[in-house]
Amino acid sequence: MTHAQNNSKQQKSKELSGIENLIRATLKKHRSPFMLIRKCALRKQYERFRKCLPDVTPYYAIKANPDPRIIKTFVKLGASFDVASAAEMKLVLRLGASPSKIIFANTIKSGEDIEVARRRRVRLMTFDNEPELYKIAKHCPGARVLVRIKVANEGSQVELSLKFGADHDQAYFLLRKAKALGLVPTGVSFHVGSQSKNVENYLQALEVSANIFEESKKNGMPLKIMDIGGGFPIQHFDKEIGVNFERMASQIKKQMKELFDRKVKFIAEPGRFLAGPAGILVTQVIGRTFRNNKNYYYINDGIYGDFSGMVFDHCKYEFKTLRRGQTFLSTLAGPTCDSFDTLSINEEIPELYVGDVVYVKNIGAYSSASATPGFNGFPPAKIILV
Ligand SMILES: *Cc1c(COP(=O)(O)O)cnc(C)c1O
Repeated sequence: MTHAQNNSKQQKSKELSGIENLIRATLKKHRSPFMLIRKCALRKQYERFRKCLPDVTPYYAIKANPDPRIIKTFVKLGASFDVASAAEMKLVLRLGASPSKIIFANTIKSGEDIEVARRRRVRLMTFDNEPELYKIAKHCPGARVLVRIKVANEGSQVELSLKFGADHDQAYFLLRKAKALGLVPTGVSFHVGSQSKNVENYLQALEVSANIFEESKKNGMPLKIMDIGGGFPIQHFDKEIGVNFERMASQIKKQMKELFDRKVKFIAEPGRFLAGPAGILVTQVIGRTFRNNKNYYYINDGIYGDFSGMVFDHCKYEFKTLRRGQTFLSTLAGPTCDSFDTLSINEEIPELYVGDVVYVKNIGAYSSASATPGFNGFPPAKIILV
């Protein structure tokens, strides 16, 4: 083993014992289940994004985790925000975000929600169809609009192109139409699908977008904003390969430089990338049995709670325990009276006892946000910022 490898291994184990000490200390003060959100990790991811894509303004997509303390942390860091509804918009405004730092990035909005945007002076929004333009023109005249185009979501964990995005050859006409209706045709947006490890998705989408910029400019309607959406991937497992944000970012940066005018402003809508790595979910074993020749452990959070991402986000997680030593093939299940609430049927983990901790890292995004707390009477896991 090289010196560098040895160092990084030592660093990893130091980090691990730091996390485990934090879990033990928090359990003395709080009952599980709880989600620890490390503010230093929020900050680190935000700064990492800024450093790797210095010309791209990040709009935190709050649907990943709308906890007010997380939003506040990003407000303080100077972030902008991506909201999908009037309620999300009001929340970020209440927490101190300025209306000029908000994008209403749901291509389908109700007339009432668009009214809220007008009243609150949120001017930037996306659309991908003509009926939406009529609605925006009626409820928020003069809005600045970005046309969202359909792009390849090849290999992404969550497909978004099945539901959103105009065909490329329609984009210019839609922007023209926007102008005719008194709106301000401002640019193009796309989303390559969430947890997109495939940089080609971004590179191709930028190429298609650049053509739309070109066509618009040629026709005397130059565009100003290129919105490269979300999808930036994180590592959910310690030994996961194929996630390299730094490399991806440098390829995206190069593509932007080659294809776009220097005057074009770039923005992005990262959700998972900013919130995911900060979250550590801490649960405890509340029951165990031996069936089907295996140990079954029932923990106090499940599919209806912070593991909802296994359903909606198609996410897999790495379950960890505080015990070391011999491992056995085991099943982990949530607390509700539903077989569907089974988290894994093939975990290699040490033997556990009632009261033992099972925890998961990198679970800050699309977890508590999509939970159905209260099902079967189980309360939601507390979110604790540390
Ligand atoms: C969900 C969503 C995002 C955030 O996506 P991530 O993959 O979490 O970065 C950004 N923009 C829009 C329009 C979305 O729907």
